[in-house]
Amino acid sequence: MALADMRSPIESGCPDGFQYMHPVMRRNFGLWKYHEHPRPGVLLHVAHSGDKIWTVKAGTQRILDVYTLRKLTEIGDKYADGYIHFTLRSNIEYMTDEESKVEPLIKALEDAGFIVGGTANSVAMIAHTQGWLHCDIPGTDASGVVKSMMDELIDDFKNCNMPNRVHITTSCCQINCGGQGDIAINVQHTKPPKINHDLVGNICERPTVVARCPVAAIRPAMVNGKPSLEVDEKKCICCGACFPPCPPMQINHPEHSKLAIWVGGNHSNARSKPTFQRLVAAGVPNNPPRWPEATAIVKQILKAYKEGAKDWERINDWIERIGWPRFFEVTGLPFTKYHIDNWRGARNSLNASTHIRF
Ligand code: SF4
Ligand code: SF4
Repeated sequence: MALADMRSPIESGCPDGFQYMHPVMRRNFGLWKYHEHPRPGVLLHVAHSGDKIWTVKAGTQRILDVYTLRKLTEIGDKYADGYIHFTLRSNIEYMTDEESKVEPLIKALEDAGFIVGGTANSVAMIAHTQGWLHCDIPGTDASGVVKSMMDELIDDFKNCNMPNRVHITTSCCQINCGGQGDIAINVQHTKPPKINHDLVGNICERPTVVARCPVAAIRPAMVNGKPSLEVDEKKCICCGACFPPCPPMQINHPEHSKLAIWVGGNHSNARSKPTFQRLVAAGVPNNPPRWPEATAIVKQILKAYKEGAKDWERINDWIERIGWPRFFEVTGLPFTKYHIDNWRGARNSLNASTHIRF
């Protein structure tokens, strides 16, 4: 084949972000002098050249249909020079270099039903994993938890009334993405998987499934003359890691798959060392469509944090200062035997971290 006939390669991956940037941002890339926070939901960046750019942040319902997207982009065309971007937490941010457009932009967003906020010491939009939208192993609909919780926390998103920024995350299985924030709401399975022995032989790569189990609780077995698997239920920690490679090992259950709430996770080492989150509420009902029990616990924790933390203390710093016994006292959460990590493999797995050695 002649070189001229060959099709050009299809590039995949992230496109060059500069083409989507507001011209003021492109011009001043790496040359910013300072930024200010004129009001909740608005940031002002000032460059060494004297150029200024305003960013307005608005919350969305996270899963966006095409009509909502059109509405959002029309507002962007009218008030923000046509430049928008979405943040990691599915907030939309509008950029403009004209201060006179900021208030009309906020009004247009609020009139259309969106909420402006989520900057500085507010409760940021809850980050969630894919859930039923496009993952094959969720035990709950993470986006539903986010929507119903943010409906209750709307004032804390719109106003900067927390001691410091609060990042909340949700995750819809126990083993993969999500779940490391100031407050994390994670799925918690409480029963070992139930095996459909008729299907295992045809669907599952048995050695792969055996290798997936972190506590070596799965063994190959012959059941009713068919190759299958068996689980040592005394060893099983109900993590659900066997379910993705072997769907006949069903672990999701409407009653026994619960939610657990963890607090104090922090990736950053800006002011203090990174910290792992810790379990503070277990066996919380996974109760759609509004998840009232999980929301009530999150609100309880936020109330205690707001009342007790010093200015600019993150949740993990606040707990570190007052101590865990006091945390349970001020939040009113019961401390139970489920809070004690007695897994004998913990020493080996935690010693793999660069930050924690014991
Ligand atoms: S947390 Fe688990 S179930 Fe949810 S999207 Fe990630 S891998 Fe899928
Ligand atoms: S749920 Fe987890 S611990 Fe239990 S058998 Fe499956 S992989 Fe092993």
